[in-house]
Amino acid sequence: MAEQSIIEQVSVQEKVVAFTFDDGPHPVYTPQVLDIFRRAGGHATFFMIGEEMEAHPDIAAEVHRAGHEIANHTYTHPNLTELTLEEAGEELRRAEQLVQKVTGGSARSFRPPYFGVNDDILALAAERGYRTIGAANGAARDWDNPGTQHIVEHSRSAVKPGSVLIFHDGYGDRSQTVEAVRVLVEELTADGYRLVTVSELLDM
Ligand SMILES: [Zn+2]
Repeated sequence: MAEQSIIEQVSVQEKVVAFTFDDGPHPVYTPQVLDIFRRAGGHATFFMIGEEMEAHPDIAAEVHRAGHEIANHTYTHPNLTELTLEEAGEELRRAEQLVQKVTGGSARSFRPPYFGVNDDILALAAERGYRTIGAANGAARDWDNPGTQHIVEHSRSAVKPGSVLIFHDGYGDRSQTVEAVRVLVEELTADGYRLVTVSELLDM
């Protein structure tokens, strides 16, 4: 079933790419990412953790005000496949409530922590109205801090029109990620790419 697969890439002609940032909002790294996108004139999608939104509501609001998309990354960041379906549903519901509080609208996309999904979780997400979003540049492993150059190279090689790229602006030191994103955004915009949100990409 097409609706219940994980989306890593959307088939489009136009040069567009969707940068996504997981695990924030973070008081240090999220504003740095916002600055990069403001200078580039592009937008990104932030898969925020509910608990982090509660800890940093001002940063979440700033992300929304700047025109970026906020999406659901659960409330406490568990591996949903290790929970009961009821508990998993509660994780999505509590995060959804926080997104709505900040944006005034519903989250359209969901990214499972650790990419942990099974058919039940995919069906649950679809039932709640979410598209489940993966990433084309998983090999970049920015969450492991493998070095800025590693993140840049393994993201660059995953870019084509319609790619979704994963990065992290929360949980730990994300300075490698910020530097890599700075390089990639500069390269891609110079190459004629537009930086769009996941929703914009899905609507193309
Ligand atoms: Zn995460």
